[in-house]
Amino acid sequence: SSHLPDARPLFSFAARSGVPAGFRPPPRRVVVTGGAGFVGSHLVDRLLEQGDSVIVVDNFFTGRKENVAHHLRNPRFELLRHDVVEPILLEVDRIYHLACPASPVHYKYNPIKTIISFIPDLHLLLYKTNVMGTLNMLGLAKRIGARFLLTSTSEVYGDPLEHPQKETYWGHVNPIGVRSCYDEGKRTAETLTMDYHRGGGVEVRIARIFNTYGPRMCLDDGRVVSNFVAQALRRQPMTVYGDGKQTRSFQYVSDLVVKETIDPMATIEFKPNTADDPHMRKPDITKAKQLLHWEPKVSLKEGLPLMVTDFRQRISDE
Ligand code: NAD
Ligand code: UDP
Repeated sequence: SSHLPDARPLFSFAARSGVPAGFRPPPRRVVVTGGAGFVGSHLVDRLLEQGDSVIVVDNFFTGRKENVAHHLRNPRFELLRHDVVEPILLEVDRIYHLACPASPVHYKYNPIKTIISFIPDLHLLLYKTNVMGTLNMLGLAKRIGARFLLTSTSEVYGDPLEHPQKETYWGHVNPIGVRSCYDEGKRTAETLTMDYHRGGGVEVRIARIFNTYGPRMCLDDGRVVSNFVAQALRRQPMTVYGDGKQTRSFQYVSDLVVKETIDPMATIEFKPNTADDPHMRKPDITKAKQLLHWEPKVSLKEGLPLMVTDFRQRISDE
C-alpha cells in the first residue's frame, strides 16, 4: 500500500533479470507467524496486495490486532490467535515465520529501568518461541511441502569484528551474556532451519534483518528509533546509551535526523549503556544486490516522517 514504502526494502520481490516489469507471482496460500507485529503486518499488506491468501498466526504478545484490522473484511485474510510454541496444522504453500518477542525491553538487561530488569520468564518465552516455535513451523513446512522463511537478525553477528557484515561472517557472539537469549535463540532458529533443509528437504530462506523502523512499531519497545521518536513527541529528553558512538545502519537517526524532524529544541540525555551492546553494525549488501537485485530505496529523510505521523497519532490517542 502506498503509505508504507518503508516495508519495501525488507520484502522487495525484485524482478530477477529476464522477468518482465509488472510481473506478479501466481496467488499463493501463505501463513505469516507474527503477522500482527510491526514487520509482519507490513508483509501481510504486501502479500494481500499481490493477490495471496494470508493466514496470520499471532499470540499478540507484542503485536496488535489493530495492525491488521484493515484486512478483517478481506475474504483472503484470516487471523488466528495461536502461540507457535503449540503445534498447528494448516494447508499452505509458504510459511513466513516472524513470530518472536523481538523488542529489546523484553530481553535486554537495562540497569536504568528497574521495572524492566532481567525477567527470566520473558527469556524463557523467547527461547520457546525461537526453538519450539521454529521447530513446529519447520515440521509443518516439511509435512505439507511448504517453503519456509525465517526472519533472523543482524544480532546473530553479535558485536562483530568484521565490518561491514557479509553473509559468510560467523559472528562474534557472547553465549552467556545478558542479551544472549535473543542472539543465540535466533542462531538456533537458523541452525534448525538449515538442518530441516539439509535433512528434511525443506525449501528454506533466511533473512537477517538489520535495524528497521517505521509506522506500527511498538511505541515503547525500547529500540532506539521508537524511543527517540516517542520521547521527542512527548517532549522528554532523548536517551543516548553510553557515549552514543555505537553505529547501526541508520546511524544519523539517533543524533541528528529525528531531532530535526520533530522538534529542533529536543534535549538529549546520556545514560549508561546496556551490556554487550554491539559497537558497529552495517550489512554488506553486495550479494543481495547481485542475486536478488535488491537494495533499500527509502532514505531516512523520507521514511522517518511517515513513522512520526503514525507515532504522533498513537501518542495523542493515549
Ligand atoms: P514485533 O514484536 O512487532 O512482531 C513479532 C510478532 O510475533 C508480534 O506480533 C508477536 O505478538 C508475535 N509473537 C511473539 N511470540 C509469539 C508466539 N510464541 N506465537 C505467536 N506469535 C508470537 O517485532 P518485529 O520488529 O515486527 O519483528 C518481526 C521479526 O523480524 C522477528 O522475528 C524479529 O526477530 C525480526 N527482526 C526485526 C528487526 C527490526 O528491526 N524490526 C530486526 C531484526 C530482526
Ligand atoms: N540506544 C540508545 N538510546 C535508546 C535506545 C537505544 O542510545 O533509547 C542505542 C543502543 O545502545 C544501541 C543502538 O541505540 O547501541 C540501537 O539499539 P536498538 O535497541 O534499537 O537496536 P540493537 O541494539 O538491537 O541494534
